[in-house]
Amino acid sequence: MNLTDAHCHLQDPRLAPHLDRALEQCRSAGIRRWIINGTRESDWPAVAALAGRIGGAEAAFGLHPWWQAERSANWLAILEAFLVARPSASIGETGLDRWMPSPDLADQLAVLRAHLELSRRLARPVTLHCLKAWPELAGAVRDCPPSDRGLLLHSYAGPAEMIPRWVQAGARFSFSPAFLHPRKANVRRMFRDIPLERILIETDSPDMPPPPDAALLALAAPEGRQLNHPLNLRLCLDALAADRGLTPGALGDILERNVERLFF
Ligand SMILES: [Zn+2]
Repeated sequence: MNLTDAHCHLQDPRLAPHLDRALEQCRSAGIRRWIINGTRESDWPAVAALAGRIGGAEAAFGLHPWWQAERSANWLAILEAFLVARPSASIGETGLDRWMPSPDLADQLAVLRAHLELSRRLARPVTLHCLKAWPELAGAVRDCPPSDRGLLLHSYAGPAEMIPRWVQAGARFSFSPAFLHPRKANVRRMFRDIPLERILIETDSPDMPPPPDAALLALAAPEGRQLNHPLNLRLCLDALAADRGLTPGALGDILERNVERLFF
């Protein structure tokens, strides 16, 4: 079986001491590709370096709403240069977040629109993050649509009633191990109503870990918290397969076709 982690942050310095061993463990479980998403200008070089060094890794470059306040005046030109230098890279992660402390939604929207325009101009797919700003995100994508390569709503936990609209806008939805927490049971249930050909799986590693008793492997972080091991991608496959009445192997083939169509 071949699986792809559609959204992760393997450039995160907390993973560095574990990375080579963790990827070896992933490969022996059939996980062979990773879309590594940048979050801020300062991590784009590390994302590019990992995509060059790790077989099966692909880069995405973007500004996450949590980090965009620290961007330089030149950030958009720098972002474009990273994308032009790597024609197979996508754009992400970017988006809107009203959950963070003191969100500046007007600034987030300006940065998001710049990413969406770049997606159109360079014909690259885009990965979007959204917390508590779904109507605004839908409005931005309607007014400033990304490239018709498509978009990924990563760790989708938005309203169920918006799913048909997003499907029409070309969106894919990724399921994360964090959705196995009992408090996210409604999100897991919602994924049963998403068209199967629009579903991808991701870990968001090293963040968003599954419940500790579900984790296949955990990694200790310096501050004592557990990191999300990229091997936990298998939890997404097993949960979705159970919910859809498919074998993990059959579902894995479908998910690979889905991710292939968006990113490769
Ligand atoms: Zn992320």
